[in-house]
Amino acid sequence: MDIRFEKREVLKEKPDQNNLGFGKYMTDYMFVMDWTKDEGWHDARIVPQGPIELDPACVTLHYAQETFEGLKAYRRDDGKIQLFRPEMNARRMINSNARLCMPAFPEEMFVEAVRALVKQEADWVPSKPNTSLYIRPFMFATEAALGVHMASSYKFMIICCPVGAYYEAGLNPVKILVEDELVRAVKGGTGFTKCGGNYAGSILGQVKAEKLGYAQVLWLDGEQRKYVEEVGTMNIMFKIDGEIYTAPIEGTVLPGVTRDSMIHILRDWGYKVNETKLAIDDLMKAGHDGKLEEVFGTGTAAVISPVGELRYKDDVVTVNNFEIGELTQKLYDTLTGIQWGKLEDKYGWTQVVE
Ligand SMILES: *Cc1c(COP(=O)(O)O)cnc(C)c1O
Repeated sequence: MDIRFEKREVLKEKPDQNNLGFGKYMTDYMFVMDWTKDEGWHDARIVPQGPIELDPACVTLHYAQETFEGLKAYRRDDGKIQLFRPEMNARRMINSNARLCMPAFPEEMFVEAVRALVKQEADWVPSKPNTSLYIRPFMFATEAALGVHMASSYKFMIICCPVGAYYEAGLNPVKILVEDELVRAVKGGTGFTKCGGNYAGSILGQVKAEKLGYAQVLWLDGEQRKYVEEVGTMNIMFKIDGEIYTAPIEGTVLPGVTRDSMIHILRDWGYKVNETKLAIDDLMKAGHDGKLEEVFGTGTAAVISPVGELRYKDDVVTVNNFEIGELTQKLYDTLTGIQWGKLEDKYGWTQVVE
C-alpha cells in the first residue's frame, strides 16, 4: 500500500504523562483512506489530525452506518513499541462491516495502516507505567443522500491518543448495576459488532446506573432479560466455585480481544472456562451462597476491572469483600506483563512496530 504523507507545519505540544486521562489528547496525524464503488479503497494518506468536512446529508449522520475498533500501542522498557493482536481487531471490523453492509477493509491493510501511523507517531507513545497510545480505527459512509441503503462512498480513518490508566485511582473494584428493563442487543441485531449505534442505545442505561451510584451497567439478554451478557464497554467473567463463567459469543455479545486472551490464559492455567448462558438468578444465588468468588470485566481500555458489588433490582451482592480477587490480580499482571513486554509472550500475541 502506498501511503501519501502530508506534513504538519506546527506539531502539537505533548501532554503531561502523569495526567493523560482517556481520549482527551489527539496526536499530530491521522490515517485516512477512501472507498468508492468504482475505485474501491484508494488514496491512503497520513495527514495532520484535524476536522473533516461532511455534507449535512451525509448518511452516517442520519442512519449511523459507522463501525469502529480500539487497540493500543505499548512502550516497552527497552524503548521499543509493540501492538497486541491487531489482526483480531482487523477481523472483527470486517465482521462488523459485513453486518452493516459496509465494505471490508482488508486485514493486511488494516495492520499496515495501524503500524504506519504508530511509526509516524512514535514520539506520542508514552513511557510512564500503565500508559499507552490508544488507537481508534473507524469507518463510516460519506455519501450525501437521504435514502436508507448501502452507500456509494466510505471513509476509513485512524486517530490516536496517549492514555493513562483507564481508572485513575488504579485497579479498584467497581459497583455494577444489572439493568432489568432496557436492553443492549437482541439475536439477529448488531450486538456482536462494534458500531456506534449500539452505544447510542446504551447511554440511557449508563445514565440510570450513574444516578444510583453505579459505575457501569450489566446487560441481560434482550429477549428474556434472564441471562447475563456483558458490561457497557467490557465483557464480564465470573469465578463461581473455582470455575470461570462468561457469556457465549452467539450474536449478541461483542467478541472481545481481551476476553479471548483471558480465556486462553485461564485454560492454560488449568481453569475450566464455561462459555455458557448464566441466569442472573443463579448468579445472585451464588453470591448469597458464598460461591461467587470473583467478578471482573475485560476490555482493551481498562484491561481488567474488578467488580466489588452487583445490584439486581433490590438484591445486592458484595463480591470478595469488595477487594480485588487473587485471580483477577494475577490475570491483570499477566496480560499487562505481556502487553508492555515485561513478560515473555509465549502466545505470540505481540508485534514490534519499531
Ligand atoms: C470493545 C468492546 C468490548 C471489549 O473488547 P476488547 O477487544 O477486549 O477491547 C466489550 N464489549 C463491548 C460492547 C465493546 O464495544
